Amino acid sequence: VAPADSLVHALRRAVAEAPGRTFLAYFDGRLTYREVDELSDSVAAHLAARGLEPGDRVAVLLQNSPHFVLAVLGAWKAGATVVPVNPMYKSAEVAHVLRDAEPAALVCSDRAWESYLRDTAAGSPVRTVLTACERDLQTRDDPRVLSFARLPEAPDADDLVTVARRGGTAPGGRAPRPDDIALISYTSGTSGTPKGATNTHRNIMYNAERQRTGLRLPEAPVYYALAPLFHITGMVCEFGACLNSTGTLVLTYRFAAGVVLDAFAEHRPHYTVGPSTAFMALAAHPDVTPDHFASFRAVSSGGAPLPPALVEKFRAGFGPYIRNGYGLTECTAPCASVPPHLEAPVDPRSGTLAVGVPGPDTVVRIVDDTGAEVPFGEQGEIVVGGPQVVPGYWRRPDATAETFPGGELRTGDIGFMDEHGWLYVVDRKKDMINASGFKVWPREVEDVLYTHPAVREAAVVGVPDGYRGETVRAYISLRPGAAADPDELAVYCEERLAAYKYPRQVEILPDLPKTASGKILRRELRSRAHDDNDAGQ
Ligand code: ATP
Repeated sequence: VAPADSLVHALRRAVAEAPGRTFLAYFDGRLTYREVDELSDSVAAHLAARGLEPGDRVAVLLQNSPHFVLAVLGAWKAGATVVPVNPMYKSAEVAHVLRDAEPAALVCSDRAWESYLRDTAAGSPVRTVLTACERDLQTRDDPRVLSFARLPEAPDADDLVTVARRGGTAPGGRAPRPDDIALISYTSGTSGTPKGATNTHRNIMYNAERQRTGLRLPEAPVYYALAPLFHITGMVCEFGACLNSTGTLVLTYRFAAGVVLDAFAEHRPHYTVGPSTAFMALAAHPDVTPDHFASFRAVSSGGAPLPPALVEKFRAGFGPYIRNGYGLTECTAPCASVPPHLEAPVDPRSGTLAVGVPGPDTVVRIVDDTGAEVPFGEQGEIVVGGPQVVPGYWRRPDATAETFPGGELRTGDIGFMDEHGWLYVVDRKKDMINASGFKVWPREVEDVLYTHPAVREAAVVGVPDGYRGETVRAYISLRPGAAADPDELAVYCEERLAAYKYPRQVEILPDLPKTASGKILRRELRSRAHDDNDAGQ
C-alpha cells in the first residue's frame, strides 16, 4: 500500500476498502468508516459555508470521543489547520492559544462554552462555534466517566452532532497537501510559555506509517486510546496510526483506570500507547488481571520516562512487555522506539532503560555544548533530524531558529547512544540538580525509588540548600494499601546510590501533580519545594 498523503486520504482509502467496518467505538455507540466520512463531510461543508478559508485555524477542545474525530477530519476536509487544546485548560491558558493561533472556529463541549469559553473567546477572531453536548458524550450511565446535566442550547453556537447529521459535501479542491500545516500543537509549557509546533500532514503520515508497518499488528487492528487525542501521542500513534491501518479506535472520554480495564475486557484491543503514569495506575488497580491484557500484541509507553521496575512489575504480574518510545511534540510524537521482537536494554552503569532506536530516515545525534558530536556512551544533548521533525514554531522565527538550527531539532534532553545504536534519555537538561558541584539526574534517583514495592509514583527535584547549593528532594505517592515512611525511603536510596545522589528530603503525597497527558509535573513540585523551604527559613 502506498502511504497516503494525509489522514483525509487515508480515510478515503479506508472507505473504499471497508466502508462498513467500525472505525470508532464509544461506550455503546459505534460509527463505521462510511459514517465518519459522511459526518465529517457535513462538518466541513458547514465550516466552509460559514466562511472558513483554507489555512484558517480551528481550535478543538474535546476529550477522547467521536466528536473530536469528526471535528478534526471536518476541519482538515475544509482545508483548515487544527489547533488541539487541552479541554482541562483554564481560561488564561486558552486565551494564550486563541491570541497566538487566532482560530476562526472553535469546537468544544456545550458545558465549557457556557461556563467560560464564551467569555474567553470574546474579542478573539473566533466566528464559528460548534459544541458537543455533554449528554451525548454520556452514552452509558457511567458516573465514573461523566456526570453532566443537559444545558440549554447556546444561541451563539451550533450543535456539532446536529451539524454532522445534516448531510453535506466537503468543499472541493481543499484536500490537504503533504506540506500543509495539519496541527498547531502547543507544548505543555514545562519550559516557559507554550509554543505552537507546526506539524505538517507529511510529519503525521510519516509516524502513522511507521506505526502501521513497525508494530506488526493483525489486519483491522483494534486500538485503545489511552493517551488523550489532543496530545500529539494520542493524535498520531492512536488516531492517526489506527486510521492509517483501517482499524477500530476505542475511545472512553478520559483516563480512569477502572473504565480502561472494562474497555480492555469488552473490546479486546491489540494495541495501546500511553504515558508511564497510566500504566502505573493500571498496575495499582485492585481488579487488574492477566486476562485484561490477553488480547494485546503490543503496548507502548511514550512521552515520559519509563522506569525499568515498572516494565518488570507489569511483565511479572500481567504479561505484556511495555515498549518504550521517545518523542516530542516537535517531532510529531516518536523519533525512536523499540523494534518488534526486541527488548530495550538497560544501561548497566546508570540503570536507565533505552528508549529505542531511531526510525529509518531519522538521524539522532548526541552533541556537546559546542555542537560537536560526542563518542558512543558519552552524554550530550539529543538532536533529531528526520521526516517527522516540524518545520518550526507558529509565528516564532527566533524560537524556531534557536530550536531548529539547520532543520534539526535540539531537544533539550540529555542522552547517550550505545555502540549498537540504542538511544538512552538521561533527563532534561534543565532538570539537572547541582548538589555540591555534583550532577544529579532526577531520573536515576526516581528509577531506584520505583524498585521499592510501596512506591506508586516518584518525582525528584532540586531544592536550594545553604550548604550544598542544591539538595535532592523526592516526592512519592504510595500504592493503595502500602505503607512506607519517608526515612525508610531515604535509607533505601542511600543504600543504592552515591552519597550525593540520595534524597535528603522525602515527602509522601496522596497523588503527584500531572499534566493532562499524564506526565508528572516536576516544575510544580519544584515550586512547592521552594515554598516549603522559604517557609522553613
Ligand atoms: P514543554 O516542551 O512545554 O516543556 P513537554 O516537553 O512536556 O512540554 P512533550 O513534547 O509532550 O512536551 O514532551 C517531550 C519530552 O518528554 C521530551 O523532551 C522528554 O524530556 C520527555 N520524554 C518523552 N519520551 C520519553 C521517554 N521515553 N523517556 C524519557 N523521557 C521522555
